[in-house]
Amino acid sequence: MTDKKLPFTKETLEKIIENYPTPFHIYDEKGMRSYAKRFVDAFSWNPGFKEYYAIKAAPNPYLMKILRQEGFGIDCSSIAELELAERVGMRGEEIMFTSNDTPAYEYQKAVAMGAIINLDDIAHIQYLDENIGLPELVCFRYNPGALKEGNAIIGHPEEAKYGFTRSQLFEGYQMLIDKGVKRFGIHTMVASNELDSDYFAGTAQILFELIADLSKKLNISFEFANLGGGIGIPYKPDQKEVDLERMSAGIKANYDKYILGNGLNPIKLYFEAGRAITGPYGYLVSKVLHIKNTYKKYAGLDSSMANLMRPALYGSYHHISVPGKEEVTTKIMYDVTGSLCENNDKFAINRVLPKLASGDIIVIHDTGAHGHSMGFNYNGKLRSAELLLREDGAVIEIRRAETLDDYFATLDFGGVPDFKV
Ligand SMILES: *Cc1c(COP(=O)(O)O)cnc(C)c1O
Repeated sequence: MTDKKLPFTKETLEKIIENYPTPFHIYDEKGMRSYAKRFVDAFSWNPGFKEYYAIKAAPNPYLMKILRQEGFGIDCSSIAELELAERVGMRGEEIMFTSNDTPAYEYQKAVAMGAIINLDDIAHIQYLDENIGLPELVCFRYNPGALKEGNAIIGHPEEAKYGFTRSQLFEGYQMLIDKGVKRFGIHTMVASNELDSDYFAGTAQILFELIADLSKKLNISFEFANLGGGIGIPYKPDQKEVDLERMSAGIKANYDKYILGNGLNPIKLYFEAGRAITGPYGYLVSKVLHIKNTYKKYAGLDSSMANLMRPALYGSYHHISVPGKEEVTTKIMYDVTGSLCENNDKFAINRVLPKLASGDIIVIHDTGAHGHSMGFNYNGKLRSAELLLREDGAVIEIRRAETLDDYFATLDFGGVPDFKV
């Protein structure tokens, strides 16, 4: 296996660590911008194309502003995510609200901000209408069920909790028409972390054929088709990233056949990718705290699954580099662990690494999506800082580390007067 590249050297990291102690996540602005540009370029054939970054992957205002400058919108699914979008100055159709099991107050916020509302269930048409009123543009999330094979993380679509069935879509859009809605969109998302560049053409075909059917039967026109997220990233060094040009060409072939071929108006293509946009451009930087030899060899870090939950949660592979030890020939197999009182708190199991010692800098790759954002406080662990490596090499702190005061802020030590312990 070849190693994965890093945007910084050991010396650079040592300088950063002088100012910002480990652990922290650091994001590579240059890599992120360059990917965002490639993404937009790949779909330049589609007027109105827009990627709505799924903000749950890395909800940080600096990253949002960078991506907005590259022409991206934001995909939100909660009131906090909507508020975040509002606080970076985003409004209206720059925001897609793709939620599920949604409470009225979240719809209310989304409608008030003029966000595009993507409904997950037919019963929510009436729920939205009664509680807030229907906006002029409404989108439905389609779940193709057994029509489409899903993949490992998302499972089989027919067992996924998301979206409308095919017949519910016909019924649902008719309800919208009857209630006076004028503008329509459609959405589907059936993959997660999919690396096959040709997979998305199949999803597009299903959606475009459906648009042709719906448009004809209901005599409406669709403004956009949102292909969701799910673009995978090469977590392992021998994996290849999705070929954006190839993916785009496959989608375009279906667009030409089913949209243009049926004489439908130009339809804007949307994505709401998260993982692929920031995932590869984030790194968790940590240090070896202890080496332990028992029945196995353990490298204990100064971070834990509270900083990066994916390996423990999904058994996911995250590549590990040891800057400065690239040429070390003595290799040892370690379990790389955190400090939680949970035996699954391991970043890697049976990972062959250069011989490690206390104090070594460890870089865990691909933490720019679902890394810091999945953080939690179990065992009293505090969330780390987030740093940004600017294009000119400067490093800025874009979120401070939590302190014990943050941890204790929600507790009440005053107590009820008669509550004696
Ligand atoms: C998580 C999510 C996305 C982004 O998925 P990625 O796999 O990160 O691209 C997009 N849309 C919805 C509704 C999601 O829940």
